[in-house]
Amino acid sequence: MPEPGRALPQPTPETQHFWDGTQAGELRLQRCDACSNVYFPPRPFCPKCASRKVSVFKASGRAKLYSYVIHHRPVPGFTPPYAIAVVELAEGPRMMTNIVGCPQTPEALVLDMALDVAFEKQTDTITLPLFKPTNAS
Ligand SMILES: [Zn+2]
Repeated sequence: MPEPGRALPQPTPETQHFWDGTQAGELRLQRCDACSNVYFPPRPFCPKCASRKVSVFKASGRAKLYSYVIHHRPVPGFTPPYAIAVVELAEGPRMMTNIVGCPQTPEALVLDMALDVAFEKQTDTITLPLFKPTNAS
């Protein structure tokens, strides 16, 4: 169960497809139809070539740990210590998230470790895409 008080994202028309996806258990990214660039966060045009011909597709959910910091101060909704991580998705884009299913320590959080998306329902409208080590159940 989520802890109370965690700040949650507010879906906008530009990000609604993403939040619909996480609720459906899918990590949805956008790909430019003109230059094939895959990007995140959601926006209605390609950040590389500015084309508005973009498509939403279901990503693999695989990623690797790109970087992280471990916070030791309490923040509403989090019990310290906890890691704020940046993961690099298999499709290329990077995403800020949390790592679950393992200790929040430098020994357990190894850069480049393989991760899988783990959806965590927060409310009836928001399910967050978190990541867990690939070998964790
Ligand atoms: Zn493009």
